[in-house]
Amino acid sequence: MLDGLRFDRLFINGEWVEPLDGGVRGSIDPATGESWGDVAYGGTADIDRAVEAARAAFEGPWRTMPGHERAALLRKFADLYASQVEPLAQIETRDNGRAIRESRGDIGLHTQYYHWFASLSDKLSGRTIPIDDSVHAFTTREPAGVVGTITPWNVPLMAAAWKLGPALAAGCTVVLKPAEQTPASSLALARIFEEAGFPPGVVNVVPGDGPSAGAHLVAHPGVDKIAFTGEGATAKTILKTGADTLKRFSFELGGKAPHIIFADADVDQAVNAATNSAWTLCGQSCALGSRVLVERPIYDRVVEAFRERAAKVRVGMPLEAETHMGPQAHKEQLEKTLSYIALGREEGADLITGGARIETAGLASGYFVQPTVFAQVTPEMRIAQDEIFGPVAGLIPFDGEDEAVAIANGTPYGLTAGLWTRDAGRAHRVSRRIEAGMVWVNTYRFIRWSTPYGGMKASGWGRENGIEALDSYLETKTTVISTTGQFPDAYAK
Ligand code: ADP
Repeated sequence: MLDGLRFDRLFINGEWVEPLDGGVRGSIDPATGESWGDVAYGGTADIDRAVEAARAAFEGPWRTMPGHERAALLRKFADLYASQVEPLAQIETRDNGRAIRESRGDIGLHTQYYHWFASLSDKLSGRTIPIDDSVHAFTTREPAGVVGTITPWNVPLMAAAWKLGPALAAGCTVVLKPAEQTPASSLALARIFEEAGFPPGVVNVVPGDGPSAGAHLVAHPGVDKIAFTGEGATAKTILKTGADTLKRFSFELGGKAPHIIFADADVDQAVNAATNSAWTLCGQSCALGSRVLVERPIYDRVVEAFRERAAKVRVGMPLEAETHMGPQAHKEQLEKTLSYIALGREEGADLITGGARIETAGLASGYFVQPTVFAQVTPEMRIAQDEIFGPVAGLIPFDGEDEAVAIANGTPYGLTAGLWTRDAGRAHRVSRRIEAGMVWVNTYRFIRWSTPYGGMKASGWGRENGIEALDSYLETKTTVISTTGQFPDAYAK
């Protein structure tokens, strides 16, 4: 189905169309620094016609389609998606440089997200509200309308699954704008929606630049809600752009997750998780535990384990099966990571291993960085405060629970956190005190369709996944019906 798919068309109203006012340009393969092929980028006129199509589909077949019929379409799509995991993984890896073994694993799970949300499509019930015999009061849940989904470059298909699953289950229609660096997999997604037989306009995919196409989607009066994953600074711009139309927003923003290892933990398991969560996706995920907090009695042991593990990470061409870690997804991110590594050195952190771009033959033109470990990191250092989004772990020593919690909560972020301990009481105490939307105990980055995910503090608004995800794609309507039909004349006397 994806064989021979061209990426130089936009998917609007069920048709593959040339951009009206955007253009076609090369998309860069971060493993080579060269364009791998041409992709269509939409402009504001393309966003206009996509929104128009989504609005017509919403008012037409979609909002009134019975939930079980929406569910059947979503299930068909999910089954087709499952059959396309390999091509999807290859397309996404070529665009964002994620090691193919990771892309396969991650994309292989997405089908369950779509199936799970499909199963909720016909269960969007409200409730009755007991008052007295004079009225019957009840709520119904109605789709929010046309949703603009704006997704990032690190996990384009995952971010799409987390948004399109609940949006379509709720009866919304969608204009998906993927990140300019990684547009291809979202166009492949459009092809699967087309094959599944979704009515034209229910899902539209328009790659485009953030400040033009993205901002136009946000400002558009025909869009009821924006579902965004990306940087906090972009979210603030989006809020301002969307203010005039007072649309709904959900934001999944950055993180600087604390990964806390207490001295009583199973240290080997904790190190497995903490090293993996430092270098998965080349460090480019907001959920990763880039701040590793280690209790002082085991600090040196953990530092040594990180050094040893870093030497085992096979950095290489992302499409090769044995590669553990690919390049950074684009040049600006490479530069950002290298500048933070320089900053860590200036701040006085102890560079244990890594710390440089990889210049060896075959990798020199790509955006590859060594797995990097800083020890003796202190909580106020910028490498411990800012989201770096590179393969850079900072190991912070601490003494006792109170200090661990203070360090863990000592950033503006509050997305995810991990803690390792064999003490069940401590697991409950500490997880309760941590300011994060998701806390993992004796595991890390365990995320599923049914587990609500999202940020406290500067890490976002709303939750994705879980039943809670539907909330931001639905409006609650309260209806009150009098059982008597009597309404007194207020002016009789
Ligand atoms: P990053 O800085 O990591 O690239 P961004 O938050 O800039 O992350 O990008 C996430 C998504 O937001 C991308 O799809 C991008 O095109 C989009 N975007 C960027 N700027 C804007 C904007 N002003 N309005 C709407 N979308 C934007």
